[in-house]
Amino acid sequence: MGRSHFHPSFCKDCGATNEETHISQTGLCFGCGLERRLANNEQLENGSGPFYEHWLRRSYLAMRPRLLALDASQRSPREVESEA
Ligand SMILES: [Zn+2]
Repeated sequence: MGRSHFHPSFCKDCGATNEETHISQTGLCFGCGLERRLANNEQLENGSGPFYEHWLRRSYLAMRPRLLALDASQRSPREVESEA
């Protein structure tokens, strides 16, 4: 049972000990665990990073048909005629 009951005694990111704060099973304190979870959101806001690129490609593929449909509906024959 020894290994399954093993619990990290300090945060592998900031080094905080289990006595100072709660260290999760993944070896991160509450603050660092939260940071990891927020990192993905930050990448979306910053517009850079591997997660952002993955998200951008995925959403582009998902949105493209809708954008094309929107573009087509905005460029109605009547508007094109009035532009000319
Ligand atoms: Zn930490």
